Amino acid sequence: MIEFLNLKKINSRLSSEIEVACKRVIESGWYILGEELKNFEKDFAAYCNVKHVIGVANGLDALNLVLKAWKLQGKLKDGDGVIVPANTYIASVLAISENNLIPIFCEPDPYTFNINVTSIESVYDTRVKAILPVHLYGQICEMAEIVKFAEKNNLLILEDAAQSHGSSLNGIKAGAWGHAAGFSFYPGKNLGAMGDAGAIATNDDELADALMALRNYGSKEKYKNIYVGVNSRLDEIQAAILSVKLKYLDEDTKRRREIANRYLDEITNSFVTLPSIKGGENAHVWHLFVIKTKHRSLLQQHLQTNGISTLIHYPLPPHKQEAYAEYNTFKFPVTEEIHEQVLSIPMDPTLEKQQIDKVITAINEFKP
Ligand SMILES: *Cc1c(COP(=O)(O)O)cnc(C)c1O
Repeated sequence: MIEFLNLKKINSRLSSEIEVACKRVIESGWYILGEELKNFEKDFAAYCNVKHVIGVANGLDALNLVLKAWKLQGKLKDGDGVIVPANTYIASVLAISENNLIPIFCEPDPYTFNINVTSIESVYDTRVKAILPVHLYGQICEMAEIVKFAEKNNLLILEDAAQSHGSSLNGIKAGAWGHAAGFSFYPGKNLGAMGDAGAIATNDDELADALMALRNYGSKEKYKNIYVGVNSRLDEIQAAILSVKLKYLDEDTKRRREIANRYLDEITNSFVTLPSIKGGENAHVWHLFVIKTKHRSLLQQHLQTNGISTLIHYPLPPHKQEAYAEYNTFKFPVTEEIHEQVLSIPMDPTLEKQQIDKVITAINEFKP
């Protein structure tokens, strides 16, 4: 069976280095908010070319805490609108609604799966105070235009970079374009921990300062609480593991791009639509390779029969979820068609040549 993502194989390549790192933490006797986190934050900030990285417990908290901090700073208030892609993973929308802000859903481009200025403009109104662009599946949005639009209309930008570690446009990485960005290090992400972890990237000193307190009970000084904070910390073991894995991220991304290029060149089945890239080779880090077909369940079955696992990202958009009953009547035809047609095929830096061959052949042989 060709697994969709073989995490065991991905991590076992680095097991001796990771074991050394974990042993160092165990023997240090210091497990929360210590040197390992500081080092990882510094290294990841250098990687993204931003001034500050603040480690938190997961990607949802990263998004959530930035919006919470902006509310505390008076930059946002209850009921303000935040533009978000209608086809995103639900976490982006949860961060908005948890902060008593209103998600303003925006249709994506049907080929890149990302929102752009044209679609943003079409939903923009005076309620909107922020944009939450999601670099979905690993492809960075057309950020130069989005930043220009935000500046013109005095809007905040919070990038959801949970799927796009290392993607870049005009030499500027995902996470360095907005006023702040949220990253996830969920195990299956391109930079994945061995448990939950996340981080915020920003060039804003005041925001970074507030976030350092917010993630730790609203406290900068022990037992002095200046904000109604939360407990959302990235622990020392995960930070140590992430520091090891960060060193190999670019190598893995290169491998993902090689696999994606083979898929793009060699998948020729006319029943399958391949993903589009905008902004050049560095714009996409291929967290997922997502194809579209009107015959999804048949294709998924055919691949399963051929020993190939696939997944759907995602079967149901946020506005159609039971949790968001208030939005269930909203209609987003582009988004809904995407959710009916997308299929993610194996994308894993440890895939071997014969496995890639097999995926390509099986897809090309498919007839509905
Ligand atoms: C994974 C993901 C998140 C949330 O990250 P967690 O670490 O699971 O909380 C947010 N947004 C997107 C687009 C994601 O893919």
